[in-house]
Amino acid sequence: MPASGAGTSPRARRSTATEGDWGELIRAWLILGAERVVEAAPELTELDARIGDGDHGINLSRGMSVVRDRLLADTIRGEPAGELLRLAGRSLISSVGGASGPLYGTLYLETGEALLDATATEALVLADALVSGVAGVARRGRSTVGQKTMLDTLVPAVDRLRLEVVRGRDLSTASARAAGAAADGCASTRDMLAQRGRASYLGERAVGHLDPGAVSSRLLIEALAVTAAQLPAGATTSVSR
Ligand code: ADP
Ligand code: MG
Repeated sequence: MPASGAGTSPRARRSTATEGDWGELIRAWLILGAERVVEAAPELTELDARIGDGDHGINLSRGMSVVRDRLLADTIRGEPAGELLRLAGRSLISSVGGASGPLYGTLYLETGEALLDATATEALVLADALVSGVAGVARRGRSTVGQKTMLDTLVPAVDRLRLEVVRGRDLSTASARAAGAAADGCASTRDMLAQRGRASYLGERAVGHLDPGAVSSRLLIEALAVTAAQLPAGATTSVSR
């Protein structure tokens, strides 16, 4: 594929999402989400030091840096949204040690697979794809809501996203409400006993601390809301896939 945008810096080339181009929405989301996680790496590591082994920020920022760099490359411009998500998922799986790499890798991979399989082009398709990506995380982690993991953020967030889209909200409004649900879900992990991952070895001692994966998931959903807010007012999504 010929390079486009030659002569401009990667930052100048970074796109904002526009109606009619779902690939650009996903590209912008994945890049912003990666940047948010990289910026928050010290906080994520600190949280993991309290109830895990203190590497969540280190693990995830390594992988998210790879995701950001690959998505900023000229060679992937114009790729369909599903392919971008699959690229991001593969990047995380191959570059992140620790539980979170395969889990977030699965989120992106399975969301991407669902988008590639889809034939319709409404916001509901994107919401359904994210729901199926989160279901993939639950399957891979053999985990469910209430166990003090990233799922306590992701499940309420994507369920809310889908609900708002079904009610007729545009993607921007629905994503903002999903971000609210993500924040509530993340906060709810503070009082939970951990039943998956390293924190589960701590029993009662994990109570009173946020789950680090729930926090990184909140950052990713917030990044989706910020990206979707750049869509033209009232746009649901029309899509070039
Ligand atoms: P590790 O636990 O291998 O050190 P990380 O520190 O990168 O990996 O990630 C820890 C986070 O991964 C936890 O905070 C939790 O949100 C998530 N996690 C761990 N195990 C599971 C699981 N089985 N299902 C869902 N999420 C999990
Ligand atoms: Mg860890």
